[in-house]
Amino acid sequence: MTFLTPTLITGDRSLVDVVVHELTHSWFGNGVTHAHASHFWLNEGWTTYMERVLQRVLHSEGDRGFSFLIGRKALTEALEQYRDRPKYQRLVIEFEKGEDPDDAYSSIPYEKGSNFILHLERTLGGLDAFLPYVRDYVKTFTGRSITTEQWRDHLYQYFAAHGGAEKTSALNLIDFQAWFEGEGLVLPVNMVYDDSLALPAFSLAERWNESRNTPVSGLDFKDADVQDFNSNQKIIFLDRLLGYSPLPSSHILHLGEVYRLSSSPNSEIRLRFYLLALLDPASEVARICAPIASSWVVGEDETGVIKGRMKFCRPIFRCVSKVDGALAVEVFTKFQAQFHPIARKMIEKDLGIIL
Ligand SMILES: [Zn+2]
Repeated sequence: MTFLTPTLITGDRSLVDVVVHELTHSWFGNGVTHAHASHFWLNEGWTTYMERVLQRVLHSEGDRGFSFLIGRKALTEALEQYRDRPKYQRLVIEFEKGEDPDDAYSSIPYEKGSNFILHLERTLGGLDAFLPYVRDYVKTFTGRSITTEQWRDHLYQYFAAHGGAEKTSALNLIDFQAWFEGEGLVLPVNMVYDDSLALPAFSLAERWNESRNTPVSGLDFKDADVQDFNSNQKIIFLDRLLGYSPLPSSHILHLGEVYRLSSSPNSEIRLRFYLLALLDPASEVARICAPIASSWVVGEDETGVIKGRMKFCRPIFRCVSKVDGALAVEVFTKFQAQFHPIARKMIEKDLGIIL
């Protein structure tokens, strides 16, 4: 049985990939479980990898590469967030007694993990050679809890039996240690993804970036600019804009309206629009959007649904608190009982309510 957050029901199927992710956990995470928190990547890395394999079936190879590109940004941010705690940049983390694994929770097990498996797939001869192994992996371990070591032993055994010396020497080229225990902001391998869907989104972002000195009345952006974009392209367009220095308030408000991003039913898009609006905490658009974003995250919006997933609520509260600390604490305090206890604890830490 899979429980899903109502924020996935957008009315346009644009978050079906998350549904795919959660159902995939029936095999990776629920069927084969990690032995303990050090091996959490086995759940999320595998599930994220398989989610993207299924995107090839649902959409296209381009969409698969595109999701890795989107994930790559989240990975870089998470690695930067742990700059002072490099241990949490690792894929396999040794926890001390009393250390809370939730403190290490981030995109890293998802994204570093799925990149690692993608690298294995490419090294071992692509999907045709790799998917039969995946089936064998699940069959071997379903109903059991395993460690990274057990996973790797099976990987070697499988490819020794299916491919022999050639596959074994391919496996020997992989720097497992660097993937498991590597720290820092870069991956052990320079990963290249299909970027055919990303390029139009990047060039639109560049047009907005170059428009910053033109008054809004002189801009010629139209709804048609994003008419052919799928939701992931809108997401990466906004991600790209988030990487530039903040646009003028007038431009961000115009952007939200002309592409209907500020009213999007897709919470991934809505989140990024608010992050863009709150990027410069001293700006006019940040003051306008801080109360709107905090109402949205607690479900005091047209959906009535709390955005309880940590990827939504934590960054919104963090950004709102930079604009108006008292507002963030006030809104959170009023709705805290509706958040999952782990999310509640993390927001309390982010807002400095608890240490
Ligand atoms: Zn998951």
